[in-house]
This record gives sequence, C-alpha cells and structure tokens, in this order.
Amino acid sequence: MKFVNSLLDLIGNTPLLRLSTSLDDLGKADGPLVLAKVEYLNPGGSVKDRIATRMIEAAEASGELQPGGTIVEPTSGNTGVGLAMVAQAKGYKCVFVCPDKVSEDKRNVLKAYGAEVVVCPTAVAPEHPDSYYNVSDRLSKQPGAWKPDQYSNPHNPRSHYETTGPEVWEQTDGKITHFVCGVGTGGTISGIGRYLKEQNPEVQVIGADPAGSVYSGGTGRPYLVEGVGEDFWPDTYDRTVADRIIEVSDADSFAFTRRLAREEALLVGGSSGMAAFAAKQLAEELAAEGRTDAVIVVLLPDSGRGYLTKVFNDEWLGQYGFATAGDSQDRTVGEV
Ligand code: PMP
Repeated sequence: MKFVNSLLDLIGNTPLLRLSTSLDDLGKADGPLVLAKVEYLNPGGSVKDRIATRMIEAAEASGELQPGGTIVEPTSGNTGVGLAMVAQAKGYKCVFVCPDKVSEDKRNVLKAYGAEVVVCPTAVAPEHPDSYYNVSDRLSKQPGAWKPDQYSNPHNPRSHYETTGPEVWEQTDGKITHFVCGVGTGGTISGIGRYLKEQNPEVQVIGADPAGSVYSGGTGRPYLVEGVGEDFWPDTYDRTVADRIIEVSDADSFAFTRRLAREEALLVGGSSGMAAFAAKQLAEELAAEGRTDAVIVVLLPDSGRGYLTKVFNDEWLGQYGFATAGDSQDRTVGEV
C-alpha cells in the first residue's frame, strides 16, 4: 500500500510542466525549453506551504513555539493558508490579523482550517491602537504567542534553498540555464537562486516584478497583481541574487494569466501570469540569439481559484480598462 501519514508529507516535490501552446511558436523543438514549476499542487494550494512548515519546525526546535502555542501573523494570503494548515496538523492555534479590505472568501478559507481572524479597520493611522500593525504586535506579545514574520524570517528563503532549489536542479538534470520567478518577500527567488548558483554559477536568475514596485526601480506606486512587488526592501530578499529584473505591467500579467488557463489549462493566479509573461519575453530574446539550448524554469506560485472574481472576471478587468476575453457571460436557458 502506498500512503503518507501526514498531509505535511505532501508538501513539495511539485512537477515541472512544459509550456508550449501559450508561448506561440516557442514550444517548437527548435526554441528554448520553458518549464513551469506548478506550486499550486501543494496541499494548501501554494508555494507558501513550504515556508510555513520550515518556519514552524524551526520555531519548535528553538523553543519559540511551545506545544499548544498560538501562531500570530498579519496575513490573509497564501502564507496564512500554509500556516493554518500546518498549525492544524500539529495542534497549534492560529490568529491572523488582516485589514478590512481583505475579501470574505479569503478570511473564510483561514477560518475553515480552524484559524481565528481579527479584522482591523483600514481607515485608521498606523499608530492607532486598532491598526493592523498595533493589533498584531499586541497579540504576538501575549503568553504562548509566536509571530513567524515571513518578511524577516531566514527560514523563509532557507526552505527554498533546502527544497525547491534542489528539486529544480534535479528535475532538470542540472541543465537549467535560466530561473524566473516573481518577488514578494523575496524568499523564493533568494533561496532557489542561491542554491542554483552554487551548483552552477552560470545559471541566470531573473526576477519578475509588477511595474511600480521597488524591485524594478519603482516607488511603491500601486499595482493590482497580488502577492508580488513591495514598497520596501524586506530582509528576506537577497539583493545580490538576481541577475536581472523584468518589469511586467498589470495588463500583461492578467492577459497572460487568462491565456494560461485557456491555452494550457493551467488555472493559476496573476503572479503566475506575470512570471510566465517574463519567461516568454526571455525565451523570445534567447530564441533571437539562437540560444535554442536554453532551459528556462518559471515558478507558478498559486492557483487561479482564489481570483475568480478578479482576474477571471471580465467586469472586474473592464473596470480597470484591461482587455477582456469577452466570453465569460453565462447563457440563459432561453438562448440554448
Ligand atoms: N505570488 C503569490 C501569489 C504570493 O502569495 C507570493 C508571496 N507573497 C509570491 C508570489 C512571492 O513569493 P515570495 O514572497 O517568496 O517572494
């Protein structure tokens, strides 16, 4: 019989999928090989399951997290889901602090795993006692509480150095020439990039970044793609790791996210569309240089399920002036 004893044993070892159709003619035998690391196949649905396990195990080992303790983190996204899942499996309580603009759907996912969600008003100054920052600080100072802090925790990049990096290296038989991924906390690119460069210093590490974010020289100007880009430089980002940053507009990120679903049957989030768009641009450049031997790996962080009312909704896209596929209208019974 083949089975695992814990859901946590299903984290990692995600497959590489060759992208072809959505890359136009680059999928042909004479173009660079473009491979997607499909991270939504982790049990919590994103790449963040990896950092959640690693950060929790390290805190258990150091004694910062004691049996029956409470994990407190200001997040509503994928890291929250990863932490809630691992906490449930290991018997910890979880409290997530999030601003009131976070959708009910996202909060409900966290609650479904048994986590508690504290909603803070967005319309108060950071120094106000009810602000997102102050509430999470207060909660994390209570007895038994521990705050992972994915923006400064070294186990965030380390989890990728120890798992995702070696997986990519082994899955490509050491033939990878370029690694592309989006940058949020910077944990993914820093850990994987460092590992790959230690194996072969020639491997090029390329960050994909929303236009407006600091990584591509922006000032923190708002953008709509979620989970990537920052308006400050987190400790978890190794500024020496990327050889290049490719800036991608929201419009290109969203259009390509839709194409991945329609043309590759890959239902992924906007940050995946952004990274894949950057990989396509890179593949075109390499093809023009005759680098048909190039092997590009692009990491796709999460599933499109969490964005059905945004990226996959024509009305939402239209509201911001983005191109729409024009085909998401339901037909009524009378039309059939
Ligand atoms: N995409 C999504 C959807 C994410 O949630 C994150 C994490 N913030 C990233 C990309 C970026 O990963 P990292 O934080 O490791 O840079």
